[in-house]
Amino acid sequence: MRPFVYARPKDLMQAVQLGAETGQGPVDAPVQYLAGGTTLIDLMKLDVLRPTRLVDIGGLAAGLEGIEVGPKGLRLGALAKMSTVADHPAVRLDYPVIAESLSLAASAQLRNMATLGGNVLQKTRCPFYRDATWAACNKRTPGSGCTALGGSNRNHAILGWIRPAFPNIREISPSR
Ligand SMILES: Cc1cc2nc3c(=O)[nH]c(=O)nc-3n(C[C@H](O)[C@H](O)[C@H](O)COP(=O)(O)OP(=O)(O)OC[C@H]3O[C@@H](n4cnc5c(N)ncnc54)[C@H](O)[C@@H]3O)c2cc1C
Repeated sequence: MRPFVYARPKDLMQAVQLGAETGQGPVDAPVQYLAGGTTLIDLMKLDVLRPTRLVDIGGLAAGLEGIEVGPKGLRLGALAKMSTVADHPAVRLDYPVIAESLSLAASAQLRNMATLGGNVLQKTRCPFYRDATWAACNKRTPGSGCTALGGSNRNHAILGWIRPAFPNIREISPSR
């Protein structure tokens, strides 16, 4: 485990200040918000993410976990839990696809911890990104290449992909 600073902001303003270095740039930011932690902690254990500061926003849920269904549509707070949204009667009634997709994701334990903000902002679940022993990964190290293009890429895309203009890239059939 690499050393990092753990910060617990008292309000949203302080959270924004503490996270000012965060940003989804080409290289992963040294400051990461900690929501449910269900994927961030995994990635730290795998040595893929190495933040120097974690800003725990879990204590700010009171103002950020709202679920509003109204004439203008559906509004979900960043700290709303996946399970809470999936079980919400109005979401189930008016937005069944969202309720169903959330209830099918991950496991009950994870859905009880995981937030919608974290779900949207989670890193790619590509196994090559998550295994730092693969050197070529543009997501981890911009410009290093993409192991998935020439390696096993089953389950990587549900809508297909366009062959890039690299002569040595071999397409792997999903049926193999
Ligand atoms: C075994 C397993 C199976 C899974 N299966 C699925 C699946 O089937 N479908 C699916 O969609 N997902 C799946 N996931 C991913 C899961 O949904 C995410 O781990 C979860 O939603 C992340 O939410 P979290 O609150 O724990 O985020 P964290 O782990 O706390 O954070 C994730 C990232 O988002 C950032 N972040 C979080 N909240 C905010 C915020 N409010 N503002 C700015 N940045 C923020 C963090 O800094 C971090 O970079 C699976 C995960 C596991 C471990």
